[in-house]
Amino acid sequence: MERQPQVLVVEDELDIAEIELAYLRNAGFAARHLERGDEAVDWVRRHAPDLLVLDLMLPGLDGTEICRAVREFSTVPVIMVTARVEEIDRLLGFDVGADDYLCKPFSPKELVARVQALLRRSGVLVPSVRAPLFVADAEAQRVRCAGQLLDLTPQEYRLLQVLMQHPGRVFSRAQLLDRAYSDTAEVFDRAIDSHIKNLRRKIAAVLGEQTTIHSVYGVGYRFEHD
Ligand code: CA
Repeated sequence: MERQPQVLVVEDELDIAEIELAYLRNAGFAARHLERGDEAVDWVRRHAPDLLVLDLMLPGLDGTEICRAVREFSTVPVIMVTARVEEIDRLLGFDVGADDYLCKPFSPKELVARVQALLRRSGVLVPSVRAPLFVADAEAQRVRCAGQLLDLTPQEYRLLQVLMQHPGRVFSRAQLLDRAYSDTAEVFDRAIDSHIKNLRRKIAAVLGEQTTIHSVYGVGYRFEHD
């Protein structure tokens, strides 16, 4: 597996930190968190992260002091986060050595975009994140494939959902019957085959040749895609 770029978030507001970390991790980064400013410089020296997200007002040592201290020994990209937009002008004037600034409240997507842009600029391999090819909406009893809504019958939906929940696992027809149609008596072994056939046709209308529901000879079916 390729190495995940490490991002250190120094933020004393835990609810904000939690959201930042969740979005960064979701985007493929190894995100670490420190709550106090006075732990940050030493941490950076020991772990050499790929990028820092520094809140300005922090207990112990503020973001500008951290940034200055880190610049003594590192060129790691720094995003400074402030609660007031006026602060940004002041910080730019002081030339604290941050590479980018974000004003709270910012969208976590914006943070991820800035992190990715800065890392690309500094030559760090940025993880590519693919949206899942199949997304089930249990409430609406629908499945989206590559963003397109599949027009499924209730039986097809239940069958696909069972398969999707266990990618790579081989199911016999009896197991599929049991899991997808346990409360309906009128579905038989061969019905599974015809539902699978219909599912394949509907998925192929979106994905083309790529096989997602594989036949496993003498056993049953397996759901898997690249
Ligand atoms: Ca703060």
